[in-house]
Parts: sequence; C-alpha cells; structure tokens
Amino acid sequence: MLEVALRGGFLGDWQALNRSATIPHCISMLERTGAVENFRRVTGESPAAYGGFRYSDSDVYKVLEATGWAGEGPWTPWVDEVARLLAAAQEDDGYLNTYYQGGPRFQELEHSHELYCLGHLIQAGIAHARTTGRRDILDVATRFADLIVRDGQDLLEGHPEPELALVELYRETGREQYLALASRMIERRGHGQLGGTEYLLDHAPVREATAAAGHAVRQLYLACGVVDVYLETGDESLLEAMRALWNSVFREKTYVTGAAGSRESGEAFGEPYELPPATAYAETCAAIAGFMFSWRMLLATGEPRFADEMERALYNGIAVGVGESGRDFFYANPLATHGGVARRPWFACCCCPTNVARFAASLQHYVATGDERSIQLHLLAAGRVSSPAAELEIETDYPWDGRVEITVRRPVEGFELSVRQARLTPRDGERVALDLELPPRLIAAHPRVDAVRGQVALARGPVVYCVEQADHSVPLDQLRIDPDRPLQAEDGRLTGVATVAPAAGDVLYAEYAPPSHATAETRLTAIPYFRWANRGPGAMRVWIPI
Ligand SMILES: [Zn+2]
Repeated sequence: MLEVALRGGFLGDWQALNRSATIPHCISMLERTGAVENFRRVTGESPAAYGGFRYSDSDVYKVLEATGWAGEGPWTPWVDEVARLLAAAQEDDGYLNTYYQGGPRFQELEHSHELYCLGHLIQAGIAHARTTGRRDILDVATRFADLIVRDGQDLLEGHPEPELALVELYRETGREQYLALASRMIERRGHGQLGGTEYLLDHAPVREATAAAGHAVRQLYLACGVVDVYLETGDESLLEAMRALWNSVFREKTYVTGAAGSRESGEAFGEPYELPPATAYAETCAAIAGFMFSWRMLLATGEPRFADEMERALYNGIAVGVGESGRDFFYANPLATHGGVARRPWFACCCCPTNVARFAASLQHYVATGDERSIQLHLLAAGRVSSPAAELEIETDYPWDGRVEITVRRPVEGFELSVRQARLTPRDGERVALDLELPPRLIAAHPRVDAVRGQVALARGPVVYCVEQADHSVPLDQLRIDPDRPLQAEDGRLTGVATVAPAAGDVLYAEYAPPSHATAETRLTAIPYFRWANRGPGAMRVWIPI
C-alpha cells in the first residue's frame, strides 16, 4: 500500500487552503442554500421546500467526499450529522434521492441524475472508508447500489458517473456485481435508450464513439468509467476506443490551459480546433474530468504523455477555478476578456466549487504509483511517499523551480524509482537530485485553430501565463510580442518588452493595407493564468499576437 502526504509546496499549500477555507465555505453554502435541508425535509425534521436543482444531493456528497479525503477536521460534527441524515432519509429498500423521494423513481433518467447522485454517494463513502475508517456512509451507498443490482439492471443514467463509482465500489468490496453493473451500463449506452442524443452520449456505442462529443463533463466521466472497466476486465477493445477518444479530446479539442468544452450551448465540445479564447466555456469540472481521464490512461499504459496532460489541467484549467481566498470560484474559464468577469462565492448550479473541494482534498493520490519493488512519481510535489518498496522525502518548489531533491530510505533490493521519463536505482540514504530546465517559452497552437492564428501563449514549465490589465497601461489587444526578445522569470511572473500596435481608427472595414509597424514599446508582465482576476475584474488575455 502506497501512501503520500503532501507538505508545503504548490500542491500542499493548495490542500491546506482547501482545508482552511474551501471545505468550510462549501459546507456553510450547502447549509444556506438548502442542499442539506433537503435531507431534513425527507426525514420530517424540516418544513422547508426543496432547495436547489434536482441533483443537489450530489453537491452534498462531493463535499462529504472532500471531508473524507481530508480526514478528521473541524467539519467532523457536520459529517456525523449528514451521515445520520443519509441513513434516516434512505428508504427501506435502499433508494435515496431527496428530489424524487415520495414520487415516481427512475422515470426520467435522461435528466433526473438519480444514478449520478448515487455515484457521488459511493465516492463519498469510499473516501471515508479509506481515510477516516468510518463505514456508515459507505453502508448507505452500498444499500442503494444493491437496489440497482437487484432491480435496476436495465437502467441507464443520462449523466455518466455511476460507472466509475461502481468500479471503485467493486475494488473496495470485492463484490463483482458492481463491476458487472458498470460494465453493463457502458455496453447499453449508445443504443437509443436515452433518446440517442449526442448531448447524453447516447448517439453511438462507446467503441464507435471515438470523437469527443456532447456535454464535456459527461463525455469525460464516461471515458473514466470505460477505462476503469478495462482496468478490471482487460477488455482491450475498450482501451483501444479510449485511446482514440483521448486523442480526439487532447489533440483537437482542449485549450492550452487543459480546459475542455468550448461551447456554452450544451456545455459541449465543439468541432476539432474550435477553441475560441474569449467565448471559451471551459467548465472547471471539465478540466477536472479531463485530468481524471488522463490519470486512468496513465494507469492503463504507463505512458508519461498522460501525466503531461494531467499537469496542464492541474496548474491551469483546474487551479484557476478557485481564487486566492479559497472562497470564490469560476465555473466557465475564458482565456480572454475585456473585463467584467469575476470569481463568485457560489453558483445556483454549484458543481464546480464542490468538485474543486474534493479534487484538492484528493491531490495526494495522484502523485505516485508503485508496487513491492518500485515507485513511479507522476506529479512533482513536496512531501513524503511511503510504500513497501521504499520511503521518499521529496523537496521541491516545482513548478516555480525545477530542482527536485529526493531522499531515499530503506529501499528493497533492486528498488527502482521512476520520475516521469527518468529511471533511477538509488541506494539507502541516497539523495537524488533532478534539475529540470524551466525556461520561459512561447507556445503556438495548431495552424487550424483559427481563433489564435498568429498569436502565442506564454508558459514556463507546466504553467501557462496571461497578461492582465492591472499590469499594463495600454489596452491589452494592442500588445504585440516579438518572438526574438527573451522573457525573464522573476517572482512567479514573466517579464519582458512588448511592442504596442497603433490604436485603430473607427472604420470597421477598409481597403487592405499592409499593417503599420508598431513603434512604441512597453514593459510586458505576465502572471500565471490561474492567478488572474484576483485583483479585480479587468481585461485579461492568454494569447498575444506576434
Ligand atoms: Zn462544474
């Protein structure tokens, strides 16, 4: 059994902020908006009307999952209360859904989210069983899952999620009926049971639906469930399809920030290379779901390119979803704005804050894998990795600094340590040091990305940068980058010199003339994209014309 404890550094600090601010904030918002009260309504303890959307239970479960991965804390009395409510609200046969209880069940699964909520309940139960050791939440989840195993073999959920949760429930309990049910859900998809729509990923069977389509989060959660079923059954045809799907997602339909789903309409994937920066939908949940998909592909294949995409999402498209306070959030994540866009403390549909809370609480589980003889480090983070093979103390300020120092203790005979592509065989007490070059660099998009042709994004290591109006006196759309003038990294920023294009006149269309050369210069300051909008809702852009 491999265990990771984060200590300081980018990921450890994020996790500490999640503990001190995000989780308590989410709990108080769930209480204020009625999501918890919905359970008291079912038990007869509250006269309140139903609060929130029909899938509000899932937000309670996601924060419950966050408290599970975070372990004991000031929220433990709240966890006790919610666990009591879940057991009290659950029907005798195992059914639990505060929106549908008292009415017909499973009659509108294309949008009811009943099994989606079950999926999140299972994940909350597993997080607690594995970290705090309490099994009461998992018992509630298992009773609900058993109802579906018994009476719901033909049910199909509009929002994928139960599939990946059922596979994890199989791993936790060893009971094969959960794996069989997940597998059955995957096989039933794409045959018209949900109306055959692309939005619900019912337009084609999973082995044929290899172009990313429909609602981005649903598509990516479904992909996670499919890879999970492959990992337990070895059905190579599923992995083959998911390789093709992954290529479609990450080679054609993902922003440079690791965010996916460019269209607001349907919260959907667009056509290949349809990646407009200003109107990017790029839901925070979709970046998390893309990270989860890449993690599973990494587990399935061991190929480092999947860890690269995890990093891209982690340090950009996911990290931007929560502000420096830990109490304000983005749902959509544009890569450019003329101003007026700000994080908010909550949303009527609060899937993103609650997803960020559980994601940050579980970060340590994505750092490393291993067996009796080896450890593979996938994310470079300060902390300790303990396994039967060895114990690692990792010191690093990555991604700000490329120095990674690893002290190896009590390695077994023949121990092998892999750090991304590097393979090492360290001896006891040895201090291994890696120096990763992290020069500032310019990124160009595939020539078919119309929206950013002739523009570059700035990056250093896995961190993508942006320019904010707060650092510039000229309008951001007048900035031009000269690719031959170097940028410097200092204090987490990139600085340099930009040229300033002349202000345009008021004629919208005119006879073509060669562009006039910029003559003025200005200091260029770029900050990490994930840090934007912490100084007010000014203009911002990631892509800058050359
Ligand atoms: Zn969301």
